Amino acid sequence: MPAYEYTCSACQHQEVRITGIDDHTVTCSVCGQVMERKMDVASLLASYLAPQQPAPAAT
Ligand SMILES: [Zn+2]
Repeated sequence: MPAYEYTCSACQHQEVRITGIDDHTVTCSVCGQVMERKMDVASLLASYLAPQQPAPAAT
């Protein structure tokens, strides 16, 4: 299951939730407002920039 970082649009509280792809409604545990999924820019960038590492040769 993928984990996503959510930010509350009301109080800016941030939580990491493990959600299904159709789980659109995540509510803030602090204020109860709907939280918005935040793109994890750091990991996104890291995965984009990371060199493709070939499997280590067994020879
Ligand atoms: Zn909140």
